[in-house]
Amino acid sequence: MLILGIETSCDETGVALLDDEQGLLAHALYSQVDLHADYGGVVPELASRDHVRKLLPLCDQVLAEAGKTRQDLEGIAYTAGPGLVGALMVGGSVAHALGFALGIPVLGVHHMEGHLLAPMLEDNPPAFPFVALLVSGGHTQLVRVDGIGEYEMLGESVDDAAGEAFDKTAKMLGLDYPGGPRVAALAEKGREGKYRFPRPMTDRPGLDFSFSGLKTFTLNTVNAAKDEGRFDEQVQADIALAFESAVVDTLTIKCRRALEQTGCKRLVIAGGVSANKRLRAGLEKMAEKQNASVFYARPEFCTDNGAMIAYAGAQRLRGGQRDGERIVSVPRWPMNTLPPVHQPRAN
Ligand code: ATP
Ligand code: MG
Ligand code: FE
Repeated sequence: MLILGIETSCDETGVALLDDEQGLLAHALYSQVDLHADYGGVVPELASRDHVRKLLPLCDQVLAEAGKTRQDLEGIAYTAGPGLVGALMVGGSVAHALGFALGIPVLGVHHMEGHLLAPMLEDNPPAFPFVALLVSGGHTQLVRVDGIGEYEMLGESVDDAAGEAFDKTAKMLGLDYPGGPRVAALAEKGREGKYRFPRPMTDRPGLDFSFSGLKTFTLNTVNAAKDEGRFDEQVQADIALAFESAVVDTLTIKCRRALEQTGCKRLVIAGGVSANKRLRAGLEKMAEKQNASVFYARPEFCTDNGAMIAYAGAQRLRGGQRDGERIVSVPRWPMNTLPPVHQPRAN
């Protein structure tokens, strides 16, 4: 089955072509970061309009790269939510229009399920069950995954997401959006032990997270350094490292608890923050002691992309799920309400 995957939930237009048997054939991404740079955040209307401009050319580009035509397509998957409603509607409209014209099934998929399953696109994909840490710009969640659509929420952030905390810290340090990779790069030059930031909610049981206090702690540290006239590049790097270490430790402690609690020996990390090298290293070190393994996607499939949507859609389309005539767009959508997909049994 040849599936076209379309991602337009926020400020990235992602498209990919996935074949059931041959795997990923082509993928392309257009980031709107520059478009929104002057506004200090994503402007929803500008995002929607830019998806309109970029989406069909990107679809044609991946088809051409794979040596396929629209007529070769056998299914289309698009991000139906969560995300910006206007941006989602663009992906949904294009998917439904193409699907209707070509007479092929179309399915709206969950963006976070896309992130969650992205590591399946790599060699040596994780087997079920596993614990997943979803760490992105809008989510921080620990999920027990028993199969596709079989998700038990173990814990989540009660306030900011981990990626959001990286982005806000970046802003305080005078770095551009997206802040995660920039904070990580700056932290490389930081000196260990110059600052010690809190590890929020690790001193009590449970698997929930909170990152807004850490953000305030960063702000106070930045302001104190500024007041004392020593907010130079070295101090900024020290703060970046202290912040990053606090996030990594916090996430690692909770992941260890989740592995212990569930008895799972596999940990999947997904979403933009899972590209973080220090986080990967911290989790691998912890997992080794637990006799567990860590799985993640290549960096470009940690952040938003069309390949993860094509993959999630392919599993569900193959399981017989498809949209009706209506475009589905669900700006807020808890992942644990998704229906399961029963894996076809081997004969
Ligand atoms: P959501 O998926 O929750 O709707 P989103 O789509 O905006 O949100 P992603 O695209 O998964 O989020 O990830 C973007 C986030 O990942 C940003 O907050 C960015 O700063 C962060 N990020 C990307 N790379 C890194 C990195 N190397 N280290 C830390 N954070 C990173
Ligand atoms: Mg993004
Ligand atoms: Fe995302």
